[in-house]
Amino acid sequence: MGKLMRMLSVEDVSFFYENSSQQVMDRVSFTADRGEFVSLVGPSGCGKSTLLRIVAGLASASSGRVMFMGKRIDGPNSKVSFVFQDFALMPWLTNQDNVKMGLSLTNLSDQEKDSKAAELLDRFGLGGFENYYPNVLSGGMKQRVGIARAIASDPQVLLMDEPFSSLDELTADTLRSDIVHMLESKDISVNCVLMVTHNVEEAVELSDKVVVLSSKPAHVKKVVNLHWKRPRDKRSKQFTDAMDQIYAILAQ
Ligand code: ADP
Repeated sequence: MGKLMRMLSVEDVSFFYENSSQQVMDRVSFTADRGEFVSLVGPSGCGKSTLLRIVAGLASASSGRVMFMGKRIDGPNSKVSFVFQDFALMPWLTNQDNVKMGLSLTNLSDQEKDSKAAELLDRFGLGGFENYYPNVLSGGMKQRVGIARAIASDPQVLLMDEPFSSLDELTADTLRSDIVHMLESKDISVNCVLMVTHNVEEAVELSDKVVVLSSKPAHVKKVVNLHWKRPRDKRSKQFTDAMDQIYAILAQ
């Protein structure tokens, strides 16, 4: 067994939006270790996306802190990347240039960025689409560009905000297995995934750990550990029991 390595540690994070007096998060704490897939579930509006933005360094905690490999996160970091629900591709950039954006925090030359972006598109089955614009792609293909952009900088942590919820079920299923393979594959740097989802079945299918949040202001109700092998049989008792357990905690 390899040594356990802490990738992320969210420590007593509270958050208020400055323009409103409402507290969104109340001392949220949890951890994510190397090799782990962690999901955040909770009622709509409880602060999941905000929390993910804080972990990404795109927003700052009002109090508490987030540590990435022992260092405090205080801004965007090329080793912690983001995948968005609506893909967030730039429609005026080609697919290749969209992927290149993921390399903006690196020191590669423009030529190196081009070849890395093309290589990634090819790896995700989008070879030949380099010079097209995102509008010619299906939703699933757009999300592949989004994932290619996110992993371009060789991140160790992938943050995903409802990454599959705007895709049809078949496409979502394929992309879910791609992400799991990525987490397990040695030649991709990502070794920890933190995903926001409202889909409890998806959380149980993918996660080693499900962090169940309360309604706003979000606090951690319970962390459910699901340390069993993937792929998981959705019809197994273990699977449905885990879903029932999470629904029960959400309803409490
Ligand atoms: P979730 O992802 O769990 O649905 P969000 O993190 O998007 O929740 O939002 C948490 C809460 O913060 C919501 O109640 C929302 O209304 C509020 N909120 C989100 N963005 C802003 C903002 N820019 N200013 C003020 N309140 C906001």
